[in-house]
Amino acid sequence: MSATLRRRATAPPPRPARGPGAPRRTVWLLDLDNTLHDALRAILPRIDAAMTEFVMRTAGLEREAASALRLEYWRRYGATLLGMVRHHGVDPHEFLRDTHRFPDLDALVRRDPRLAHLLRRLPGRKIVVTNAPAAYAGEVLEALGIAPLLDGLVAIEQMRFAGRLRPKPSRPMLRRLLARLRLSAGECALVEDSVENLRAARHCGLRTVFVSGFAWGRRPAWQRPRRGQRGMDVHVRTVVQLARTPLARPVHAP
Ligand SMILES: [Mg+2]
Repeated sequence: MSATLRRRATAPPPRPARGPGAPRRTVWLLDLDNTLHDALRAILPRIDAAMTEFVMRTAGLEREAASALRLEYWRRYGATLLGMVRHHGVDPHEFLRDTHRFPDLDALVRRDPRLAHLLRRLPGRKIVVTNAPAAYAGEVLEALGIAPLLDGLVAIEQMRFAGRLRPKPSRPMLRRLLARLRLSAGECALVEDSVENLRAARHCGLRTVFVSGFAWGRRPAWQRPRRGQRGMDVHVRTVVQLARTPLARPVHAP
């Protein structure tokens, strides 16, 4: 990860000067995997396999049982990591390091050539907020070639509440994160492929953009939104469509 982006990851981004009558622009909180790139084909299967191996070693289970437990923790806590910390006392940093090793990441990342163009012309600040570890997230952003176009990165290591890691969809973490970044919920939009994360964000007062385009049919049924389900303000197939949504238009104060 570039030194600049890492610095932006830990410090609140500078707030732009706002004079009277200055238009208010959306602050985009962008998820990473399956929002900014398609991780379902090559990357997530490798992470799932590495997590299953980790569960096998730690809990002494056969592969099938370990895979089932990994999924159970993911469903119950929003991240396998939390179940491993809570029930098996694992070191979260060791778990994240062990399950996100990608010496060949550059070859695995699927790039949409329109993404950099979108980020350049989309008004408002853009901060990546991901449940992935910072090292991996930084490498993916570099591989996508969009790191210089972003205003910050918040990775799972920065998602803490009450002394514990609390990734998305934790509402207390989300509120604390907004306070740390000196942002109001009403000026932010969370852009995500996860229905649970969007619902939590909506509950906290953020606007929500559901990104459904990446290999949707291969997701488990419980991860797909039902028709008419509340929790999303805008639905796009790909983030490239963000600039065409009403949220991209600056709001002029009366
Ligand atoms: Mg995602």
